[in-house]
Amino acid sequence: MAQDQRTRTGNRVDTQVVVVGAGPVGLMLAAELRLGGADVVVLEQLPAPTSESRASTLHARTMELFDSRGLLDALGPVPGEVRGHFGGIPLDLTLPGSHPGQWKVPQDRTEALLGAWAGGLGADVRRGHEVTALTVTEDHVDVEAVGPAGPLTVRALCVVGCDGEHSTVRRLAGLDFPGTDATRELIRADVAGIEVPDRRFERLDAGLAIAARRADGVTRIMVHEFGRAAVRRTAPPDFAELVTIWKRVTGEDVSGGTPLWINAFGDVSRQAARYRDGRVLLAGDAAHAQMPIGGQALNLGLQDAANLGWKLAVQVARKGSEGLLDSYHTERHAVGERVLSGIRAQALLLLSGPEVNPLRAVLGELLRSGDTRRHLAATISGLDIRYDVGPGDHPLLGRRLPPSALKTADGWPTSTAELLRGGRGLLLDLSGDDGRTAELAAVAAPWRDRVHSVAATVIDGGPLSDLDAVLVRPDGYVVWAGSDATSPEAALRRWLGLPHDEHPISGGLS
Ligand SMILES: Cc1cc2nc3c(=O)[nH]c(=O)nc-3n(C[C@H](O)[C@H](O)[C@H](O)COP(=O)(O)OP(=O)(O)OC[C@H]3O[C@@H](n4cnc5c(N)ncnc54)[C@H](O)[C@@H]3O)c2cc1C
Repeated sequence: MAQDQRTRTGNRVDTQVVVVGAGPVGLMLAAELRLGGADVVVLEQLPAPTSESRASTLHARTMELFDSRGLLDALGPVPGEVRGHFGGIPLDLTLPGSHPGQWKVPQDRTEALLGAWAGGLGADVRRGHEVTALTVTEDHVDVEAVGPAGPLTVRALCVVGCDGEHSTVRRLAGLDFPGTDATRELIRADVAGIEVPDRRFERLDAGLAIAARRADGVTRIMVHEFGRAAVRRTAPPDFAELVTIWKRVTGEDVSGGTPLWINAFGDVSRQAARYRDGRVLLAGDAAHAQMPIGGQALNLGLQDAANLGWKLAVQVARKGSEGLLDSYHTERHAVGERVLSGIRAQALLLLSGPEVNPLRAVLGELLRSGDTRRHLAATISGLDIRYDVGPGDHPLLGRRLPPSALKTADGWPTSTAELLRGGRGLLLDLSGDDGRTAELAAVAAPWRDRVHSVAATVIDGGPLSDLDAVLVRPDGYVVWAGSDATSPEAALRRWLGLPHDEHPISGGLS
């Protein structure tokens, strides 16, 4: 663990990175920064984690990421389901990989997991601190918050706004957030004491109704009335409004139930024009606001954090190559744009009236054909991501390292996920040739603080067989796929930064 560089001067704390928001994205980012050796303070306005029922789905790529950080044991058993949907049309999410499908984990459980992980790694999470002002200078940022003990200033090399859809950091930094506000909405509630049939995206004549009864007898219901515009709200809808709309759409009376929790969400679609502006960065809902459908909002944000953490850690250590930090915007903005477009398409299919039924019927047929199904399943699961990582035409370049069982050169069973657990890059030598192994180890030696070099063989074939070697970033994406004649040195420099014996770059945040 890097030495803690925080110092206290009156009501000022100095650190390397200040993260605003201890939601799932801020906590994941804080942990990733700590893994990379960066010092981090997280400021969160809420005095305690919220137990509000929000996202409940982790998709395949997020589960793989959690596995590659050793988090799944702590998460415990989670129910999995390969049956997903696209705009309410059933979609089989089965794809090759270690965690195909969707996994049902309430968001408060995910946040508890990430909070414990970040805290255990030494992230300084300060609850009850509301950020109110931001000053960006040539060589640092000052983030001002009001906390239980009064005003506090956190000085850092940069600030990351993980403070949700209505991000204060985004507003204070004046970052553009183009897109459209919600035009339609769903009202959702957990209700005790009602008896209604379970409904999975049921489109009735007057609207869309969803109902799922849980084992504890509470039923989650969601409803949209076709043609009804989104309401500009400053508070959650009241139960009477839900009762009226549910009755108009389904004909059922739920007025005798007890609402435990109720909210409304709409088909807003906005994305920050830049995820990075100098020393100010955005991640998660602060960078993109979307209709929370199919769990994609949360998964998109968690993967922003996994992409940004190690890059920022290298950069604040003044080791990052030119353009490394900007690749966060390039890579994640493009992924976000695509996911948001898919969510808008789903919103049209779900919330439009009967006029959209022929389109749904055609799409339903297409989704039964293999290629279309796999295409959409890969998009929703996050398994289709391919970053532009530079020259080369190997099919694995820019893609996630496919999860594979391995045996190390000295005979120990391991896996690709296990080899990534330290949060370092991975130079995986599969050549089975002692000469090549020595050559690769020598090339990687100057990066040994940031790259784990392992010689192994693949068990049970799969996409890694026949490979000589691969270099994988800490977030699991392949940036070099070797053949006998090539060296990973250029890729090491570009993605993992300067070797440990070269002088750091001045300025720290190019
Ligand atoms: C009511 C609701 C229902 C949802 N349902 C679903 C769903 O069913 N499926 C799905 O995928 N997604 C859903 N989402 C979206 C999902 O919860 C988000 O995508 C996810 O929480 C994003 O995580 P985040 O960390 O980016 O932001 P958030 O979880 O919003 O966390 C932001 C944090 O920043 C803090 N903060 C804000 N301003 C400040 C400030 N000035 N100073 C300090 N701290 C600040 C907040 O208190 C909060 O803890 C829902 C969201 C909401 C609000």
